[in-house]
Amino acid sequence: MASKITEAFEAVAAVARGMSVTFGEMMNPTITEDYPDSPPKFQERYRGAHVLQRDENGLEKCVACFLCAAACPADCIYIEAAENTDTLRISGGERYAKVYNIDYTRCIFCGYCVEACPTDAITHGHGFEISSYNTSTLIIRKEQMLAPIPEGAHFPLKAEAEEAPAGH
Ligand code: SF4
Ligand code: SF4
Repeated sequence: MASKITEAFEAVAAVARGMSVTFGEMMNPTITEDYPDSPPKFQERYRGAHVLQRDENGLEKCVACFLCAAACPADCIYIEAAENTDTLRISGGERYAKVYNIDYTRCIFCGYCVEACPTDAITHGHGFEISSYNTSTLIIRKEQMLAPIPEGAHFPLKAEAEEAPAGH
């Protein structure tokens, strides 16, 4: 009889302990994201869609060194390099990426490309709405990844804008 009473007390104590956690959480602020009605919050380290960065003059930071493509374990970065000239300067280095594609059907968002880049050109942004029923739209081109030209930047090639590839 005594052991049954002890068991009953233990069961009640266990329920009380469980409910104390439940009631404690009810008092804490809600952290559930109300997506899509309000924009979600991200940790800084979140690895979302890639962004190709520019410097303060609007020049592309990518110098087409191919290190990101070499580091990519999914082999999903495709780059075609071209030379900057006196009349057509796209990046701050000797070369720039004329074509820079990332195949998001293969990318695993590991961040190795970001770590390998010597100029901090390729970065992870916070974009996440990239799913698609049509896989042909998941080859993301440079023009879709380029950061906007900073406000007030003196882009050296403004006069030759018609010579520059789309997106410059
Ligand atoms: S995040 Fe990883 S898989 Fe995706 S492009 Fe960069 S290195 Fe390749
Ligand atoms: S993104 Fe960086 S690592 Fe990749 S080609 Fe450009 S400069 Fe080199």
